[in-house]
Amino acid sequence: MTPTARIMPKPFRPVTLGIVGGGQLARMIAQAAFRLGCDVIVLEKDRHSPAANLATRTIIGDWDDPDALIDLGRRVDVVTLENEFVSSESLSALEKTGCRLFPSAACIRTVQDKLVQKKALAAAGLPLPRFQDTPSPDDVAKTMELFGGSIVLKKRRNGYDGKGNATIDHPDQVAPAWDKLGGGANELFAEEFCPFERELAVMLARGKNGDTVIYPVVETIQRDHICHVVTAPAELDTKTRARAEETARAAVDAVKGVGVFSVEFFLCSSGNLLINELAPRVHNSGHYTIEACRTSQFENHVRAVLGWPLGSARQLVPAAVMINLLGAGPGDGAPLGLKDALAIDGAHVHVYGKSASRPGRKMGHVTAVGSSAEEATDRARRAAESISFGREEAVREPIPSEKRRASR
Ligand code: ADP
Repeated sequence: MTPTARIMPKPFRPVTLGIVGGGQLARMIAQAAFRLGCDVIVLEKDRHSPAANLATRTIIGDWDDPDALIDLGRRVDVVTLENEFVSSESLSALEKTGCRLFPSAACIRTVQDKLVQKKALAAAGLPLPRFQDTPSPDDVAKTMELFGGSIVLKKRRNGYDGKGNATIDHPDQVAPAWDKLGGGANELFAEEFCPFERELAVMLARGKNGDTVIYPVVETIQRDHICHVVTAPAELDTKTRARAEETARAAVDAVKGVGVFSVEFFLCSSGNLLINELAPRVHNSGHYTIEACRTSQFENHVRAVLGWPLGSARQLVPAAVMINLLGAGPGDGAPLGLKDALAIDGAHVHVYGKSASRPGRKMGHVTAVGSSAEEATDRARRAAESISFGREEAVREPIPSEKRRASR
């Protein structure tokens, strides 16, 4: 009698997602992709980046190097980005090889230059602060006169956490602001200063077919131009909420975005809602969606770029508050006080696994949920105050198994 032939299952080839960049945003996209059974390949300069530490594989290389991008592209099904600071020429070269890239090189080209982005949004009839191209310091002075008040001079490209901005309240400040931002070598433009009452943000996921899901409008509070606290949902009247949602949808439609996008707004005392900027990626103001929404921004980004159905963006808890955990000083990336933070009911701690802390560097975040904004704020504050990175005394306590090994 012949032995019964064993039917071997066919080897399973997971869908593979390529991510350009290896920071915390890539790490959280990767975590969502793994949950859906994907493999993840990261392209990043640093061997020990937050995403490289857990990716299926890492290609060590420069984002702007077309050869490195093409190498990534031929190993994966779809390429996406964790930030918009990648050369759009290199992204076009990648697309020309037939690689599927979302958002597309054309979309990134429009969004990564804040002036081109604003022109595209203005052409779509969307509300923005007045802005003006300023190729020389003379143009900055003229723009100040034209707008009749303070202006914000901004780098067109590569600005983040306010580092590419300078506020000018007096004509004497034009020259120092121009020098501070490296005017000439860097292209700059000017925008009227908006004495806003509040800052709002809307995250949304847009699929290849234009289907869109919109997350709740949130309020963001910046400290030193860095997103510090996010409260979801923002306390708003129904009209303003609807206007923010529809404007955000129209903004992402205008740049034909695919994936998750963030649209940041200024809410003025007049009730005017102006777009500050669009980010073509998952965003700090959407981290709260991991715990608070039916589908996180990271999972919806993976779904959108892979062409899978989008999940509901509905918030499942009455309130959620996210607070960023920034490095207090130089040191390693280990958190001090983690146990105290974990003892707080309703608070969820995220540590990014960065190898070094620096003052002001984003090292992790806390999201707390609650039955009211007050309760969520109190929980998030207490958790965030318990944890620190890069303080003198932040020597990591050995975890129990290490203690055992050490004592053997
Ligand atoms: P980045 O792209 O570096 O995050 P933004 O241009 O979004 O920089 O500016 C960072 C912060 O600076 C904004 O969240 C807001 O608080 C402030 N800001 C930017 N532009 C203006 C403006 N036109 N008027 C008033 N405040 C502004």
